[in-house]
Amino acid sequence: MSSESSIHTRLQHLGMAPCDAQHPVAPVGLPAVRTSTVKFNTVEDLEDTYKRKSRGERLVTYGRMGMETHAALEDIFCALEGGRRAFLASSGLGAISMTLLSLLSAGDHLLAADCVYGPVGHLADTVLRRLDIDATFTSAKDPQALEQHLKPNTKILYVEAPGSLLMQMLDMPALAEFARRHELILVTDNTWGSGYAYRPLALGADVSIVAGTKYVAGHSDLMLGAVIAKDPALIKTIDTNQYAMGFSISADDAWLAIRGVRTLPVRMEQHARNALAVCQWLARQAAVKKIFHPAWRDDAGHQLWKRDCTGSNGLLSVALDMSKEQVRTFVNALELFGIGYSWGGYESLVQWVDSGSLRSHAYFDAHARENVQVVRLHIGLESVDDIIADLHQALQKAGALS
Ligand SMILES: *Cc1c(COP(=O)(O)O)cnc(C)c1O
Repeated sequence: MSSESSIHTRLQHLGMAPCDAQHPVAPVGLPAVRTSTVKFNTVEDLEDTYKRKSRGERLVTYGRMGMETHAALEDIFCALEGGRRAFLASSGLGAISMTLLSLLSAGDHLLAADCVYGPVGHLADTVLRRLDIDATFTSAKDPQALEQHLKPNTKILYVEAPGSLLMQMLDMPALAEFARRHELILVTDNTWGSGYAYRPLALGADVSIVAGTKYVAGHSDLMLGAVIAKDPALIKTIDTNQYAMGFSISADDAWLAIRGVRTLPVRMEQHARNALAVCQWLARQAAVKKIFHPAWRDDAGHQLWKRDCTGSNGLLSVALDMSKEQVRTFVNALELFGIGYSWGGYESLVQWVDSGSLRSHAYFDAHARENVQVVRLHIGLESVDDIIADLHQALQKAGALS
C-alpha cells in the first residue's frame, strides 16, 4: 500500500501492528497500549532514543506524548487530511484551543468567520481576551471584504466550511489566497468533512482541525480532537506548545477511534444518501422555508460544494415556518431523533437552534426570515423510510403538515 492508494484502502490498512507469523486482525490488530511511562534497558538506549527523537522520529518515550496506538491514529488523521503531522487532543474544542494557544501571542489579532463553532467565540471572549489576544468575527463569504477587518497584528484567519448550524460553504482556495497575500495562517475546522468529504489542506489551508468525536469515532462513544498541519515550521511550533501544555488522550480512546474510522467512508456515504432523500421530502413540505445542506441542489453553497467537496454527510438544518409552540411539539414528537447536541454518530439527532445564536451570523439574515424556527437534524443510519415517516408524524402532531 502506498500513499497514493485510495483513502478507502488506506483506512483498512494503516495503524496495524507489525506482521508476525500470526497475529489478530480484529478489531484493529493493534492493542490499546495503556501505560504511564516507558522503560529503557540501558542509559545508552534512552540517550539514543532521545537523539533520534530530536531528529524528528516519532518514538515513544513517555505516556503523555502517546504510544503506538496514538501514533497509528495520528497517521490515519494525516492520511485523511493530507497532512504531514497530526496532534491529538481530548476533544474537538481542546484541539481548537491547542492550535490557537500555540500560534497566537499577546498582542495578536484573530480574524474569524462568523459561522464557526459557537464555543470558539467563548474561547475568544475569555481565555484569549485575558491573554490580550483580540478577535473579530465576521462573514467570510467574500474574502476581499475581509480586508477591512485586517489589523497590522492580525495573525490567523480562522474559518470553518461548511460552517456550523447553517452549513455555509466558503471559498477555501480564495481564502487561502487572501491569507497568503496578507501573511496570515489559515486555520480551518474540518469536522464536517473529517478528511473524507472535504480536504481543506489540499485547497490551501495551513492547519485543519477535526473533532474526532463526530464522524471519525462515528459511534457516539468518545471525545477526541486532532490538529493536522503540513508546514514543518508550523508543525514544530504546535509540537513545542502541545508538549508544554500537556494535551493528551487515553490509549483506549485512540483505539476506539481507530476501530471507528475503518468504516468512515461507508458510514459517510450512507449518511449522505439518507440526508439527500430527507431533503427531497422536506422540500415538498409547506412548513419548510429553507433547507441548509450544501449537497442539496437549492443550497446557496451548492456550486462551491460541487467544486470543492468530495462527499457529503448527514447534517442538515431547516428553517420552519412555525410558532415556537409548534416547533416544540414537532421536536418532542420525533421518536427516532434523540434531542441532543453533537452529531456524526450512527444515530439520528435533533437540535432546536436558538435563533439568538444565529443573530450574529450574516448568512442567517441573508437566507432566512426573522420569524422562522431553525432545527438541525443529524440523519443517522436508520432506514430512510422510517426516518421520513417519523418526520411526517411529528409534523402532523405539530399541525404543520401540508
Ligand atoms: C462538535 C464540534 C467541535 C467540538 O468537538 P468536541 O469534541 O465536542 O469538543 C468543534 N467543531 C465543530 C464544527 C463541531 O461540530
